[in-house]
Amino acid sequence: MPKKILVIEDEKDIQDLLQLYLKRDGYDVHIAKDGETGQRKATQERYDLILLDLMLPQTDGLEICRNLRSRPQTADIPIIMITAKAEESDRIVGLEMGADDYITKPFSPREVLARVKALFRRMEKPKLKEVRHEYGGIALDPSKHEVTYKGKSHSLTSKEFKLLEFFLGNKGRVLSRDVLLNEIWGYDYFGTTRTVDVHVAHLRQKFQVLNKSLVAIKGLGYKLHEEPVKS
Ligand code: CA
Repeated sequence: MPKKILVIEDEKDIQDLLQLYLKRDGYDVHIAKDGETGQRKATQERYDLILLDLMLPQTDGLEICRNLRSRPQTADIPIIMITAKAEESDRIVGLEMGADDYITKPFSPREVLARVKALFRRMEKPKLKEVRHEYGGIALDPSKHEVTYKGKSHSLTSKEFKLLEFFLGNKGRVLSRDVLLNEIWGYDYFGTTRTVDVHVAHLRQKFQVLNKSLVAIKGLGYKLHEEPVKS
């Protein structure tokens, strides 16, 4: 079965270019001309990856990304954001919204293919044995890709999920940002260690127990206490 990719992009030239190259590489490519259509398609059908343009008519890409992440049907679909803005602040906002990677316009089709492949490769890595974790009200079940906190279900992005799983599997150990980047994002990821901080901040927002239990160790990285610390 070819992998199914949804391209959400309003510019015809870029639609055509992406379609041509992705199809040539054997992907099943679907196009949405605006965010609303893209969102609808992504909820109706299952896609393996979404290429999402930042600058879209009406609702912009960030908003669409946030919406996709907040819905259980689309929360874990990998998203590559296409942005004309190269500033770091925009990239960080994109990450906060749950994008897995970026491509900055103008891009070469080969770069897009490389990023798409890299993302699929990261996802296909053989999984470590899937252990269910419980910690201070958090229950994480990798086999079902489910997290609950105090009995309430939470939808996390694929990266947030992996990061939380990794912390829970390495309690009491100091984990450097570089180790975390390599483990969660992979060696071929282009981002910076700031990415890790953004995701940790997100986890702390969602799981209060992590505010005091997941601590930053100055100059080293992060550590999840063996036992949850009450806040
Ligand atoms: Ca656009």
